[in-house]
Amino acid sequence: MINFSFSEEQEYFRKMLKDFAREELLPNYTKWDREKVFPKHLWKKLAGLGVNGLRVPVEYGGSGADCVTTGIAAEEIGRGDFNLTYAVMLNALIAEILTNHASGEIKQEWLPHLANGEKVFGIALTEPAAGTDAGGIKSTAVHKGNKYILNGEKSGISVATVADAFVVFAKTAPELGNRGVSAFLIPADLPGVECSGYEDLGNIAISRGSVYFNDVEVPEEYLIGTENKGFATVMNGFDLSRLLIGLQCIGAASQSIDETIEHVKMRHSFGKPLATYQAVSFSLVTHYTQLELVKWQAYRGLWLRDQGLKHSKEASSVKWLGPKYSQEAIHECILLNGHYAYTKEMPHEQRLRDVIGLEIGDGTAQANQIVIAKEIIGKEYRSC
Ligand SMILES: Cc1cc2nc3c(=O)[nH]c(=O)nc-3n(C[C@H](O)[C@H](O)[C@H](O)COP(=O)(O)OP(=O)(O)OC[C@H]3O[C@@H](n4cnc5c(N)ncnc54)[C@H](O)[C@@H]3O)c2cc1C
Repeated sequence: MINFSFSEEQEYFRKMLKDFAREELLPNYTKWDREKVFPKHLWKKLAGLGVNGLRVPVEYGGSGADCVTTGIAAEEIGRGDFNLTYAVMLNALIAEILTNHASGEIKQEWLPHLANGEKVFGIALTEPAAGTDAGGIKSTAVHKGNKYILNGEKSGISVATVADAFVVFAKTAPELGNRGVSAFLIPADLPGVECSGYEDLGNIAISRGSVYFNDVEVPEEYLIGTENKGFATVMNGFDLSRLLIGLQCIGAASQSIDETIEHVKMRHSFGKPLATYQAVSFSLVTHYTQLELVKWQAYRGLWLRDQGLKHSKEASSVKWLGPKYSQEAIHECILLNGHYAYTKEMPHEQRLRDVIGLEIGDGTAQANQIVIAKEIIGKEYRSC
């Protein structure tokens, strides 16, 4: 049996978020970018709609929703405000990591705040000399008595300057390479933690930056999962974030396409609406079709995850092509809207800048192609 329909509950949730995105997010999407403000009040409002805690179990204040439902949220919020999709994607990733691997105390203390939007969480893996090659991180956490002493520098971290806590990866056994990495929950106000923001091309409201750890004393209960198993236990979460990133980009691009369809129906050249020229309509059709194909691959990947089935290559294909096709679609929308879309009066230029960021964040095209190659060709032919 094969069934592509969403449940009644999922359709209701989609409609509710679609209305919210149109009425409350879209009108101010460009404002937060211009003012360089992280709209915490909207982050909390989304929590009130159940968005921030979708992957948090009910006992910790979340809704315990499935991955497909979480994907619906990423797509619909992406239509209104791309940057607020981090409340879906980043929170889902961190909620799963904490739920599946953190101690009972950490779950009790932090998950309810993640779900109710009071606290913002980041994930800190990348370093100045280690991005795609994540096993090359240099940060260390040395076990001393009942504490770990954390030192290192993380770069390119989303929500760096507004987060209340980070899931941080550091080497607890540097001699074991990527088999010696552990994950920790690090409150941002621990002594020795410092953050600084970047002047980014896009995702401005998300306040990306660097996080520094100088002799940070971390209570050992803040270790997530087993020591030295940080990559093995926690990395599976990226298969979820990659699928959600695809959908949030597709949401943003679909909104640009819908707005552009309205424009080409209204705007005339040589006495006829632009929409009557096949060079215009076929271009929109091409981008719409590419987005539809990746969208359904994303929902298939989320469904596989909900069934407990393998979905790494599906997640990587969505992470590779979702942001790529989305930025190509938005670029075309700018051209079809003419010179006015080149101004900051229209949202397309910001959507383009925002989406490009996630062609890099959470793994580049090549990083994802490496995952797919490993699976379909074989580990022994893994590219180096
Ligand atoms: C918007 C945004 C948000 C981000 N948020 C976070 C975050 O929250 N937390 C976090 O930890 N990090 C975050 N990052 C960092 C991101 O994950 C890294 O930038 C990414 O993994 C790539 O690493 P790098 O920048 O060091 O590039 P590099 O690894 O130096 O790669 C540079 C180029 O070389 C290519 N390349 C590298 N190795 C290979 C290879 N073996 N084969 C072929 N090509 C290769 C890459 O694909 C890329 O094109 C974010 C980045 C952005 C842009």
